[in-house]
Amino acid sequence: MEQAKLIITASNVRPGQPVHRKLPVDPKTLIHKQLLEGPFWQRIPAYSRVSEKQFFDHRWQARNSITRLSKLLAVLQAMVPQRFYDDVAMGFRHSPMSLRISPYLLSLIDWTAPQRDPLRRQFIPLGSQLRPDHPELTLDSLAEQADSPVPGLTHRYRDKALFLALDTCPVYCRFCTRSYAVGIDTDKVEKMSLKAREERWKAIFRYIGERPEVEDIVISGGDTYQLKPRQITLIGETLLDLDNVRRIRFATKGPAVMPQKLLSDTEWLDALTSVVELGRRRHKEVVVHTHFNHPNEITDITRQAMNVFFERGITVRSQSVLQRGVNDNIATMQLLVKRLGYCNVQPYYVYMHDLVKGVEDLRTTLQTGLDIERHVRGITAGFNTPTFVVDMLGGGGKRAVHSHDHYDCETGISVYSAPSVKSGYFLYFDPIDRLTPSVQARWQRARDRKRMIDDALDAANVRRATTARASAVRAEGNAALDSAASSKTTPG
Ligand SMILES: *Cc1c(COP(=O)(O)O)cnc(C)c1O
Ligand code: SF4
Repeated sequence: MEQAKLIITASNVRPGQPVHRKLPVDPKTLIHKQLLEGPFWQRIPAYSRVSEKQFFDHRWQARNSITRLSKLLAVLQAMVPQRFYDDVAMGFRHSPMSLRISPYLLSLIDWTAPQRDPLRRQFIPLGSQLRPDHPELTLDSLAEQADSPVPGLTHRYRDKALFLALDTCPVYCRFCTRSYAVGIDTDKVEKMSLKAREERWKAIFRYIGERPEVEDIVISGGDTYQLKPRQITLIGETLLDLDNVRRIRFATKGPAVMPQKLLSDTEWLDALTSVVELGRRRHKEVVVHTHFNHPNEITDITRQAMNVFFERGITVRSQSVLQRGVNDNIATMQLLVKRLGYCNVQPYYVYMHDLVKGVEDLRTTLQTGLDIERHVRGITAGFNTPTFVVDMLGGGGKRAVHSHDHYDCETGISVYSAPSVKSGYFLYFDPIDRLTPSVQARWQRARDRKRMIDDALDAANVRRATTARASAVRAEGNAALDSAASSKTTPG
């Protein structure tokens, strides 16, 4: 019956009436617009009497954040069995990050199936799900400290720099790339201190001012949600006062984990808005970069919070990390991208997961990234389509996933070059447990490891040489054409 509507004949086309070549979509299927509403938090035993007023207050959210296992037990009570708590305890014994989760996030987890919940996976490790680290993994795998002229500043790319203003966050993610500094010491890691101290910042401002090539500053951490309003003002105004600085981004996971702050912390929001407006008067861009990983992190509270940013003319972009069991399938990533766009947040990057200690269960293969990218591009506006990137081990910077010089999905090794960042080749490794048993065995033997890596580098070299030859041949061809053309047109 429905299909019949699509048959267009001369007799049923009336002037002025649109002709539907495709059937309109059933609005019920547009699930990116269906955002969780109502007192969803009251499902959690300890929050059953928490009012909307309390839940929407960022101070209540911060005060009631869960930082100890005993607190988790007190909040969830009998919702999950004791063996789950034991599993969490084992998970944290091996984790480089400590526990910190907001009541908001906790309420979004499906506690009837916590093993596979995509939000639980990001914040609460389970010992039973952990896997051994990749043999090529180190604590600061992106070598941020090696590119650091002043503690807390990474200057890797020519025209932009990363300023780590502080080392705390409203939540702690299991997979944090900066587990070498962010959060409290754990059994596994004694952290480098990057406190929010104005003395420390002075040296950073000075360095930036002495580098005319630097135009773009990412203010990160830790998390700029944790900066006091006067610190936002101080950092923003100091940077905007530097002639060379043209763009600033405040990086915060806040909108994804505690949107309430944007609806109730007027002082913080006003400080940020003033910096944005000062930037606008000086024709400099000041924006917010945030970090959503799963469509379940976006509720009606998020929409309201993003509306506040939008009304104040503040651009918000989001970076996501591709994570196994979280968003490593086409439907989830498509929904995330569409839902972000719906809330006026621009999806900017999807990162392949960095090699971070204790989170091999969250990493996935480059092939997965390549496959998902193919299905994400085309579903919405180009400017709301994230670029899939991989940040190179050893500090080669971010590269588009497709631009590898070599990828062997059997050994899981990919090779990239970054001519405008650093010379040489850079590597990325798929998680070992995704490889065949015989290749997994090779990764356990140091000699075989070296062999596999050398082979991958050789293959990249061969490919580069071939490409260079092909371009030389093309260039020669073009030159021949040009001279033929010019000999025809040159008078005399
Ligand atoms: C990611 C990053 C930046 C910003 O890079 P964009 O591609 O412009 O987002 C700057 N410095 C460092 C060290 C980074 O890792
Ligand atoms: S919010 Fe960002 S910096 Fe903080 S723990 Fe998570 S990933 Fe790390």
